[in-house]
Order: sequence, then C-alpha cells, then structure tokens
Amino acid sequence: MADKSFFIDTTRCTACRGCQIACKQWNNLPAERTTNWGSFQNPADLSHSTFKLVRFSEVDAGGKVNWYFFPDQCRHCIDPPCKDAAEAYLNEAVVIDGATGAVVYTEKTRELSAEAFKEVRAACPYDIPRRNDATGLITKCTMCFDRVHHGLLPACVKACCTGALSFGDRPAMLEAARRRVEELKGKGYAKAQILDADSVRAIFLVIDDPKSYHPFATARAEMGKRRKLALPRLFRGGAGLIAGTYLVGSLMDSCGSE
Ligand code: SF4
Ligand code: SF4
Ligand code: SF4
Repeated sequence: MADKSFFIDTTRCTACRGCQIACKQWNNLPAERTTNWGSFQNPADLSHSTFKLVRFSEVDAGGKVNWYFFPDQCRHCIDPPCKDAAEAYLNEAVVIDGATGAVVYTEKTRELSAEAFKEVRAACPYDIPRRNDATGLITKCTMCFDRVHHGLLPACVKACCTGALSFGDRPAMLEAARRRVEELKGKGYAKAQILDADSVRAIFLVIDDPKSYHPFATARAEMGKRRKLALPRLFRGGAGLIAGTYLVGSLMDSCGSE
C-alpha cells in the first residue's frame, strides 16, 4: 500500500465538480454561502470546509478563448514544508501517514497560535492550508487516507467519470503521467508538462503555462527562502507516522459506502 500518488490530467477535466461535491460528502463538510463574482468557479477559493476546488480560468489565445479547469487540492508534498513550519511550534500537529505518504493535519492543529498558522500557510508552496476560526482546526485534503487504508479510492477519484483523476502506486502514476505528456506532445501540444512531479504526490498535467491555470499551480518561488527561515527553529521529535487522534479518523466508523 505504501507510496501513493494522484495523477490529475487537466485535459480530461470537464469541470463537472463531482470531485468537489464527493469530497464534501465524504468529509461531512457543509456547503458555503456564496455570491456571483463573475466566474463559474464556486466557491471563489479553498476554505476550511472546501478541501477540493475546481478552479476556472479564461485565457486569451490569439482571437479565441481557452477555458482551463484545475481541480486544486493539497499536493501531499514528499518533504512537506508545512510540517516543518508546524514543528517549529508543536510536534504531531502535522504528520505523515506511513502507509500512503499522505500529509495529515491532526486535532493538535487547534493548539497552534494565530502566528503559527500564518507561518504554516505561508510555508505551503501551493497556498493550501486554511483555519476554521470557530474551532481552531487547520484543515485541508487528507488523501482520504481512511478510505485508502480500507482498499477504496479517494472519494474525489471515485466520483470522477472522465478519467481526469487517477490514484494508485506512485511509480504507476508517474509512468501514466509521463506517457500522457508524450502522447499530448505527439498531438501538437508542445507545452504539455507535469508539475513538480518529483516533490509532490498530486501530480498535475497541463498543456499551457501553469500560471494560466492558477497562480499557485506550481510551487511559488519564494518558498526556498521561507523554508530556510523555519528550519533553525525546528524541533524534531521523530514523529513521522500517525500516532494520535486524527481529524477524520472517526469517519472510518461512521461512513460505510464507497
Ligand atoms: S470530477 Fe473529474 S471531470 Fe469533474 S471536475 Fe472533478 S476532475 Fe474534473
Ligand atoms: S501542498 Fe501545502 S499543505 Fe499540502 S503537504 Fe504540501 S506544503 Fe503541506
Ligand atoms: S482525496 Fe479525499 S479529502 Fe482529498 S480532495 Fe479528494 S475527496 Fe477530498
């Protein structure tokens, strides 16, 4: 089971948002009250109750418009900077699930101060973590590690009917992604590429400049600097595996459907 990854082929995404809804359903997350802000992207951003968000971008392509869809989520970084930032304050608020490689935020995130949350969010190269101000919990995609432990696909992948989302053993996902890039290049998509594949477990494929899809589609440039700042304050307690009370652990008992 060890060493899992997503392969997210944006060329196959129709923006149906089935993944976005399935994520809310599995994680028991409420809908959000939203307003029309001039885009079909809804809600406008990730939040403590929206772990998966299909981003919409309209791009001028010399007389026509390209419409790009980007099912954004935590990348489950192989060496997660958010975990380093959290450990500067507290151990086991952010842990790595040894069976899958999922980066998981635990109940201990409630104990992180406002300043610590700011640093955790700033440390993320993809601007993913969000805080529930009412509960103090810091949240994001869990890789549905509870489902994966029981041999199920992540809920978002299960819901995707176009083949845009795949999940499985990392070598197989990397191979599928690289094969698809070659296939697309052969069809004339010269900019086809996979994003930050060596450092993340959510491997996105795009066919244009990544910034055309989302400003944080690839790791933001200043991350190296932020990470160097966090490291000297690091207190490493050897926590690498899940060993506590986890944010979604109870779901394994309460949800029985695929
Ligand atoms: S379910 Fe699949 S096709 Fe639909 S929005 Fe999500 S990734 Fe795109
Ligand atoms: S994408 Fe951000 S929140 Fe997710 S593991 Fe990487 S640093 Fe942490
Ligand atoms: S893996 Fe699970 S938690 Fe993460 S985006 Fe998909 S459904 Fe949501």
